[in-house]
Amino acid sequence: MREDMLTIGAFAKAGRLSPKALRLYDELDLLKPGRVDPDTGYRYYAVAQLEQARLVAWLRRLGMPLARIRQVCALRPAEAAREIRAYWAWVETETAARRDLAEFLVEELSAVSVSRKDTTMLELRYCAHSDRGLVRPANQDTAYAGSRLLAVADGFGPTGRPASSAAINALRILDTPEAPTGNVLNLLDDAVRGATDAVHDAVDGDGEDAGTTLTALLWTGSRLALVHIGDSRAYVLRGGGLFRITDDHTVVQSLIDEGRLTPEEAATHPQRMLLLKALTPTATPDLRLQDAEPGDRYLLCSDGLSRVVPDPQIRHLLTSTPTPDTAVHALIAAANEAGGPDNISCVVADVVAPTTP
Ligand code: MN
Repeated sequence: MREDMLTIGAFAKAGRLSPKALRLYDELDLLKPGRVDPDTGYRYYAVAQLEQARLVAWLRRLGMPLARIRQVCALRPAEAAREIRAYWAWVETETAARRDLAEFLVEELSAVSVSRKDTTMLELRYCAHSDRGLVRPANQDTAYAGSRLLAVADGFGPTGRPASSAAINALRILDTPEAPTGNVLNLLDDAVRGATDAVHDAVDGDGEDAGTTLTALLWTGSRLALVHIGDSRAYVLRGGGLFRITDDHTVVQSLIDEGRLTPEEAATHPQRMLLLKALTPTATPDLRLQDAEPGDRYLLCSDGLSRVVPDPQIRHLLTSTPTPDTAVHALIAAANEAGGPDNISCVVADVVAPTTP
């Protein structure tokens, strides 16, 4: 045997790994022994493989899937570093979505056991409007506002218009006296499933090329349940500050999160319009529960507003308009003044104390 080869036992000891782990790495193609004795089947490792073995162990501790570890191990250090950073950005995004879901469940279950009599029932004042813009031949957006439901859907592809209206129509059951009652999370999930099926039927034949985003808020009387998928947005204006409560599901946003692209580069990236997720049976929408306060003003909009009207201007327009109706029309006018390159949809809703009869 060559001098720089170690037995599996010696190699395991030097690498602070168990022989069992090394056999597993071998079976999984993560780290092949330098030599396997053809007679005894004993595994031998080169000293130079120690670094690799310990990297595999660290990546497993990080929770990285085996297939991805295999990829990382094949890369040069600088590229491997980039891959690990990208993996971790993905973990953080996934964890944030799961954290929101956990909070949602905690809220829901707490609300069942605790009397909510102390909560003043609030009301919404709302307005929704959708505008073709100045460039697109047709309007493929759909916007909706009612006393319990606010929603924006941005259809794309040849059957984008039927897709966005099918999604909103399927959700409108939540805004009727016949609306099912019960756990808000289940209500939303069922409604979104219905919307997904409706979109699937509406784009029949267009497959991947057509679909819709969906951003909607379901009002419970004191809170808003958010469901969101795609690059439409939801904001809240509270105490004079404008806060975005959705993340864009776009390819460039994921590249920014992974540190592969700066926000400045993203603004002119050729694929900046490319959606990472839309309302399809396989994609999971974000769900969040938002406590409402009197004086809150909510905005839902399609990217036809947010791509051309910067946040400070949106904040200014929301602050300086007295009613949801004037706010919606001021925002749409601003997008058209900026060229109106896309369809523009806005829903504005104010949270107010109920008017006593
Ligand atoms: Mn759009």
